Amino acid sequence: MIYPWLDGLSQQLFIQADKGKLHHALLVSGIAGLGKHDLAKHLAQRLLCTQPHHNGSCGVCHSCQLFLVGNHPDFHQINETEKRLISIDTVRQLNKVVAERAQQGIAKVVVFDNAESFNESSANALLKTLEEPTDNSYFILLCESVGRLMPTITSRCQKIMLHAPVDCLPWLAQQGYSDVPSGLIQLYQGAPLAILEAMKQENATEYEQIAVEFERFIQGQCTSFQLADFINQDLDRRMDWFYYLLHDMQKVQLGVAGNKLIFSKFEALLVRCSERWSAVTGYHLAQAWLNLKQQFVSHSGLKKDLLLSQYFIDLKNKPGG
Ligand SMILES: [Zn+2]
Repeated sequence: MIYPWLDGLSQQLFIQADKGKLHHALLVSGIAGLGKHDLAKHLAQRLLCTQPHHNGSCGVCHSCQLFLVGNHPDFHQINETEKRLISIDTVRQLNKVVAERAQQGIAKVVVFDNAESFNESSANALLKTLEEPTDNSYFILLCESVGRLMPTITSRCQKIMLHAPVDCLPWLAQQGYSDVPSGLIQLYQGAPLAILEAMKQENATEYEQIAVEFERFIQGQCTSFQLADFINQDLDRRMDWFYYLLHDMQKVQLGVAGNKLIFSKFEALLVRCSERWSAVTGYHLAQAWLNLKQQFVSHSGLKKDLLLSQYFIDLKNKPGG
């Protein structure tokens, strides 16, 4: 069984497969926590099954059994990430494999877990295979954002975009979580699996710490350096959290309802900030924060705590501040 919000889509894909009309290269995009990887596996098993029915794979044939124990010779999953890119050798090897006859005689399926992780040469090595597919070979490419892939790849695939369900609460309740904070739903953009994963953690709303610390700073209970130090202790995550806080402030300035805020519990703080700084200032603060984040990525050896501290000094000195 696939997740309810992917059920309609997977049925459509099965119907196309039944009719022999499924595109040989699918590019499935969507934010983390929507179930892209499960969808790809669900579809792969169906394509490799020897007795598929309209609801998908049979689950009992030899091919399904091989698949379910993770040992199907015609299924290839490439899970390199952007930290370790897909090499040209990997793609050349795959090109050879898909040019050969399927070992179980049905089909060959290749899933790229992170299509963002091609480099130019490995992407080029795949192009010809995508352009002139061999019989019964399927490529399923997964990514968070199509914009980060090379157009030469994306133009050769059928694009499928996954969306979060309109309301993820009924499904989360079925999983045993009926009291999900609205801020958490906003933080994960309604992606049910990401929210579920967060709810399983003890400190699901840990991100709210940044609002607590920022409020102390605004009220003069801590210095810019102490706030900078707090962020610097867990830099990537806390910089993201502060960006979300700035983003929420802009949302409040636009009149967005409280239950659509990540920091919904801190609406009073956000309202105070949005009254103190204009929308233009709010925008500049967010841009300056993104620039700072970018600098930290591109230049190692920066004195991060000092730069962060300077940011907060500037923030306090902004007109109206
Ligand atoms: Zn089967």
